[in-house]
Amino acid sequence: MMKKELTRRSFLMGSALAAAGMAAGALTGCTSTGVKGEGSTVPIKWVPSEPESWDYEAEMVVCGCGIGGGCAMIEAHDLGLKVMGIEKSNSMREFAACTWSGGSLCGAGTEHQAASGIPDDNPEDMKKDIQAAGDELGDPELIDAWCKLSGETIDWLMKRCGCQVLDGIRPSEVHITHSRNHNSKPEGSGYGWMVGIENTVKDLGIPVLMETAVTKVHRAANGRVIGVEAKDLNTGKTINVKATKGVLLAMGGYGSNMDVWKYYSPVMKDIMKVAKKVSTSYPYQISGDGYHMLDDLDAYQYPGQSLYGCANVVLDDLGNGDAGILPHRWSKYGAIWLNQEGNRWGNESTFRDYYVTRSWRYITKMVYYMLFDDDLLKSKNGQLYAQPIIDTCTKSGYTKSVYSANTIEEVAEYFDIPGDQAAKTVAEWNEIVTTGGKDPVSDRTEMGAPILKPPFHILEITVSVGTSKAGTMITPKAEVLDNDRKVIPGLYACGEMASQQCHGSARQHISGGCNSTAANFGRYAARAVAGVTDEAATASAKAAMEAGPTRTPEVVDFWDRAASGVAIRELAASGKYLY
Ligand SMILES: Cc1cc2nc3c(=O)[nH]c(=O)nc-3n(C[C@H](O)[C@H](O)[C@H](O)COP(=O)(O)OP(=O)(O)OC[C@H]3O[C@@H](n4cnc5c(N)ncnc54)[C@H](O)[C@@H]3O)c2cc1C
Repeated sequence: MMKKELTRRSFLMGSALAAAGMAAGALTGCTSTGVKGEGSTVPIKWVPSEPESWDYEAEMVVCGCGIGGGCAMIEAHDLGLKVMGIEKSNSMREFAACTWSGGSLCGAGTEHQAASGIPDDNPEDMKKDIQAAGDELGDPELIDAWCKLSGETIDWLMKRCGCQVLDGIRPSEVHITHSRNHNSKPEGSGYGWMVGIENTVKDLGIPVLMETAVTKVHRAANGRVIGVEAKDLNTGKTINVKATKGVLLAMGGYGSNMDVWKYYSPVMKDIMKVAKKVSTSYPYQISGDGYHMLDDLDAYQYPGQSLYGCANVVLDDLGNGDAGILPHRWSKYGAIWLNQEGNRWGNESTFRDYYVTRSWRYITKMVYYMLFDDDLLKSKNGQLYAQPIIDTCTKSGYTKSVYSANTIEEVAEYFDIPGDQAAKTVAEWNEIVTTGGKDPVSDRTEMGAPILKPPFHILEITVSVGTSKAGTMITPKAEVLDNDRKVIPGLYACGEMASQQCHGSARQHISGGCNSTAANFGRYAARAVAGVTDEAATASAKAAMEAGPTRTPEVVDFWDRAASGVAIRELAASGKYLY
């Protein structure tokens, strides 16, 4: 259980800092030397901090180099800023959440949409769709800014960063007025976005301190954020990096840290009590470090709404899961979802049942079992979605999630499902598929294939936690607000460190919205730090796009990404990158 202990430790470290900040701040305010004004009796909630010396200096310091931080660095460079990044892992392309993501990125009015037969999408229609998904509770100004830049950002990722996208535009249940999800090549995951971003950062010579974890943000006595403290994870040395114009917090959410989930997200705390298993589909180093820093700075923090679904196959005893099974994308070809009693419980062909309406919350222990035959496993989809997960479990000897056998009864009973009931359900399924009768369980029209060819395969699908719809409150320029809703000078945030406002009630997951908000508010932060007008920023982006990418787009291979998944699990077991 190394991961649990380590994540717990890193979480406690943040809490201790926060607690220390509260106490010391209150003391400072009471002695009337507090930063809130001479003679003030208002206790301050943060401790002024300034190191004796600085090891590095830049105008803009970007903390965390995923899609949000990566886009911010490139935009800042193009606007003439001296920018540098600090990144905890050793690879932007392998360890960002975007790499592991489904890869959808939404944007309105792109050239790719026009070329794909969607010529008239626009920010106003996108705004309507986004607000409807969040019950009209999203922040209108922020959503307005996001939608306005969203199309340009996708064009920019393709032309400036050389990202390649799959043909066509993916539809989604949220983007009602127009389809607007763009997926990067090769297989639609976010790997291709990060390859283009990382290549561009390298080619532009933007310095990034790798394997270096930001541990604290320095806020001077005058209230301005002036830099950060970080730790070199190889030498253990503490370094201080000065930011003369701005610090961007882009360290992602708390995806992999169950303790932080429970702390910030009440709904997940409840689910963890009831569900058979809850695991994360996030790269493990994305563990909520930045949230404690926000607390320490007295930045406003939303209670966490969360993206959670029932889509993970657990891979090890450390609590890592893989959501790459994406049940809705291929179950329609002939896999069924059984509950613990051996009955089908939902519509296997839709994203809705496991991520939007979350009907799995009402089944026993919030767990279900994906059952399919060997023909489906050997098909293109089975090889893409299931085989890598089965291989990972087989390789590591982890036998609690995946099982294969020659009879339906045997695979079912392995997971304590009554074998006779499972066999009956499969027989009913085969009957409907072959005769074309009405499906009593769902309104499906595409029924897939019968389940006939042994060996049969069964995967236990459990609750996965994903994106943190939480974090701090920002302005449309990505400036961070404090608990009095005042701008903290010099501090900016994007992505999962500031994502709540765009999701509103989060009743429906905004597909493609997390990568998109991260990229767009990263770019907005760079524009604000550079102090340029919208017109100047647009002209700069246009010039960069006309100049083209820094290198010929790299053709990336799906299996590169699969290999990175294996590598990160090995690193997780070693505890590296948790400090
Ligand atoms: C399985 C899965 C599927 C998803 N599907 C989609 C999808 O289809 N569409 C969509 O829009 N979104 C999707 N998402 C969510 C989306 O990928 C993320 O919300 C988005 O990429 C977050 O970007 P970010 O820049 O905020 O942070 P991240 O990409 O999380 O980057 C944070 C970076 O900061 C680094 N870091 C962390 N702590 C520190 C520290 N202390 N010091 C320095 N660096 C640090 C991390 O190593 C990382 O590189 C998915 C995510 C997952 C995991």
